[in-house]
Amino acid sequence: MKLLEDRIREEGVVKEGNILKVDMFLNHQMDVVLFRQMAKEWKRRFADAGVNKILTIEASGIGIACIAAEEFGCKVVFAKKTQGKNLDGDLLTTQITSFTKGRVFDVIVAKKFLGPEDRVLIIDDFLANGCALEGLISIVKESGATLVGCGIAIEKGFQAGGDKIRGMGVRLESLAIIESMDGGKLTFREDGT
Ligand code: 5GP
Repeated sequence: MKLLEDRIREEGVVKEGNILKVDMFLNHQMDVVLFRQMAKEWKRRFADAGVNKILTIEASGIGIACIAAEEFGCKVVFAKKTQGKNLDGDLLTTQITSFTKGRVFDVIVAKKFLGPEDRVLIIDDFLANGCALEGLISIVKESGATLVGCGIAIEKGFQAGGDKIRGMGVRLESLAIIESMDGGKLTFREDGT
């Protein structure tokens, strides 16, 4: 999606350790006008999928997921990160290793918010090694809901996550796919939108 690629080129900062900082518009200061265009693009790509629930993970997925949920006309649920306390039987749980923080989190969703009647689109800001998506996918499976696909804002195509998730047969739609950011120079995969 050219609009998002342009913003990444203009305002993204490449940091040590394959981290792209996009806090000018995506995950600290948030440009909701851009979010609306991103949400419309996910809606276009998943138009026939019958999405009736959006699932994301706190914190930085929540903003984009909310605007996407408005566009799809459905509710949005965010998975919460916990320190492993108060895990009771009414929860769907998994563990996720954070790419940016290098820590393992227990992640929970209340069972009452996800069930067999749901057709779920997972939304998140970044895809790197795929741990966050794998965790969210396992929560959807545990709930008995149908996974329609995953919508990612920025996929780092040079890391393993994209191939892993697509290899699982999951429909993955990333709005910008970075092929390389070696030496701070960004190259994107062509997608024609
Ligand atoms: P994964 O689980 O796919 O390895 O990493 C995905 C998660 O790590 C995302 O939810 C995102 O919060 C964070 N993340 C991964 N790579 C980056 C990055 O380059 N920049 C930022 N800001 N966050 C990232």
